Amino acid sequence: MTNCNQNNANKTICPYCGVGCGLEVSPPAQKGKPTHKDGEETPIWKVQGDRAHPSSLGKVCVKGATVSESLHKDRLKYPMMRESLDQPFRRVTWDEAFARIVQQIQTVRATQGPNALFLYGSGQFQTEDYYIAKKLFTGCLNSNNFDTNSRLCMSSAVAGYTQSFGSDGPPCCYEDLELTDFAFLIGTNTAECHPIVFNRLRQHHKKNPQVKMVVVDPRRTQTAEAADLHLAIRPGTDIDLLNGIAHLLMRWGYVDTSFIDEHTSGFSAFAEVIQNTAPELVARTCGIPLDKLEQVARWWGESDRVLSLWSMGMNQSSEGTAKVRSLINLHLMTGQIGKPGAGPFSLTGQPNAMGGREAGGLCHTLPGYRSISNPQHRAEVEEFWGIPPGSIPPQRGMTILEMIRGLEAGEVGFLWIAATNPAVSMPDVKRAQAALRQSPFTVYQDAYYPTETAQYAHVLLPAAQWSEKTGVMTNSERVVTLCAGFREPPGEAKADWEIFAEVGRRLGFADKFNFANSAEVYGEFVQLTKGRPCDTSGLSHQLLAEHGPIQWPFSAGQITPNFATNKRLYTDFRFNTPDGRARFGAYYAKGLAEPPNPDYPFVLTTGRLYGHWHTQTRTGRIPKTAKMHPDPFIEIHPRDAEKLGISEGMSVAVRSPRGNAVFPAMITEAIARGTVFVPMHWGFLWAENAEANALTHSESCPDSLQPELKACAVQLVAIAQPETGLLQTISATQQQRS
Ligand code: SF4
Repeated sequence: MTNCNQNNANKTICPYCGVGCGLEVSPPAQKGKPTHKDGEETPIWKVQGDRAHPSSLGKVCVKGATVSESLHKDRLKYPMMRESLDQPFRRVTWDEAFARIVQQIQTVRATQGPNALFLYGSGQFQTEDYYIAKKLFTGCLNSNNFDTNSRLCMSSAVAGYTQSFGSDGPPCCYEDLELTDFAFLIGTNTAECHPIVFNRLRQHHKKNPQVKMVVVDPRRTQTAEAADLHLAIRPGTDIDLLNGIAHLLMRWGYVDTSFIDEHTSGFSAFAEVIQNTAPELVARTCGIPLDKLEQVARWWGESDRVLSLWSMGMNQSSEGTAKVRSLINLHLMTGQIGKPGAGPFSLTGQPNAMGGREAGGLCHTLPGYRSISNPQHRAEVEEFWGIPPGSIPPQRGMTILEMIRGLEAGEVGFLWIAATNPAVSMPDVKRAQAALRQSPFTVYQDAYYPTETAQYAHVLLPAAQWSEKTGVMTNSERVVTLCAGFREPPGEAKADWEIFAEVGRRLGFADKFNFANSAEVYGEFVQLTKGRPCDTSGLSHQLLAEHGPIQWPFSAGQITPNFATNKRLYTDFRFNTPDGRARFGAYYAKGLAEPPNPDYPFVLTTGRLYGHWHTQTRTGRIPKTAKMHPDPFIEIHPRDAEKLGISEGMSVAVRSPRGNAVFPAMITEAIARGTVFVPMHWGFLWAENAEANALTHSESCPDSLQPELKACAVQLVAIAQPETGLLQTISATQQQRS
């Protein structure tokens, strides 16, 4: 055991969202006896917030507080195999499973080529898992087809930062939440999805009446309830809104001309766009009053320190990168970056999505914030890995969506999915499920069984999860924490990186995977970050264990008594572009890829609920969180409901051009007219015919290749009267909201 404090509590971070709250996890009071009221046979580990963790200061939300309650439930303990999907799984040894996987990789590589191999990973990975997966696929198998579920979550933020600043990396830190004068939240239900970040902001806002908070969201979310002003814009009008604010900032002279002149490029093309964006038209397009638009521009212009926050509402869009860049434009034109309380801050969804960005966990990236399309970057990585020059293909790999098309076309012969559940989370999920069914050979590596995706697998590999393996994770503010293992994995489960490394050794690359433990893996990885924007070359497991969490950049030799030197990026206003200048982007809004139309007159938007995490693999198995949100539902505005004859709790059939689902109606003014909302947490294991993604489409941003999971066109049909039980659930959910 490592990383324990004096009370024998293990220090780690929460494995749910990208806030990365520090946790202290203590052994059960009496070993072998139940300590939980459910009377579970396995003792429950006690979880509390770690006051010493700089990101969360001891706070924790319901998901973090209850995380240990799922650790022993429905675990996949042994490798399993079957020849076809209509057969039952049989238990096999690791030897048999590895031999079968290696044989399939070799056969497919020899007959179809490396591009027929695909690995789909997860923001739940620790950095070591990502790194070894990348080294195996890109370094040894010469395939860039390693993509992760971050593609669905924040690849537009990556593309936006990279295009505007020359490299990825959120420039802000959580301290900015308590230093800002004006918080502009767009496309983020922070109160439910990043609760501890929101707590810090809300407390600052409450204590300081002069501090203003604006929330832009088609729903009146819990986040919007706390704001001074809620702009319920029409879905797909974010760029109009941002350009409209820019127009007013320019008209009223709230422009930092010396910052623009000295530290940016591309302003004139942007200025032309915003000159052409009349605020009156913007207000009409967005469906908001002009005076509210003006108020927001006034607050932005008059504030000394402006902080913007966003997450999936911006990223999950067919113009996600343009949205992100349009937001960054506002910061650049007003010089609101590189100083306390200011900057454009992307909140990452998953606990180590940031680590994935550092380690090359997307199919167009290489470790150390490098790009596959850059010949110098490829050469640097090839040299470091000791592989022949030209081994890394110059074209990016397939994204997960392209992999689905690849399965349909018979171009993918080997599919490996780890720590994620695409049979629920993919857009147009019925098509994705059908493609998965066609896969000639699918390995599914996860901690839990059953899951929806396991139904499409030929081989199941049991993965050790949080608390059972040691590795690092990076949160949204670039703080790296060592998450030490403190429990034994169940059965024969292994860490993801160990599984990838063993396959690599058996494929004949023993010298590339000669690691005794994850500390050695991390030691190798950080060397690849030396001199890069995300430099962590000064970090090691040992230093993180001794010192606690550390923020990057943290280069080799930087081990000084002062660890807190890197809170913000770009404090010298030098950006990572060749000329050192940040770039304006000039965009007109294109709107939704699938706007409402006479056949499908409503816009469906999807989102998350406070107590649930993604596809419920953990939270659905925890009594407290499962009870908070027991059933799916659809939010409908009262006037829309009245027009369609829908009453509270009534079953509503929701149809899109791709599929259908049925949800009980929740009638609420929290959703704008013409828009409906469905949570995305329910797959076919948890509810019948309630998959939000049966409705969504896969049109994607051309730059980030992130699909528009947030909006599609649907029709609604009332089909049945409410059941009493459902009405009670809906009423309880409504009360919880208010
Ligand atoms: Fe975990 Fe996120 Fe909740 Fe923190 S805010 S406890 S990281 S789910």
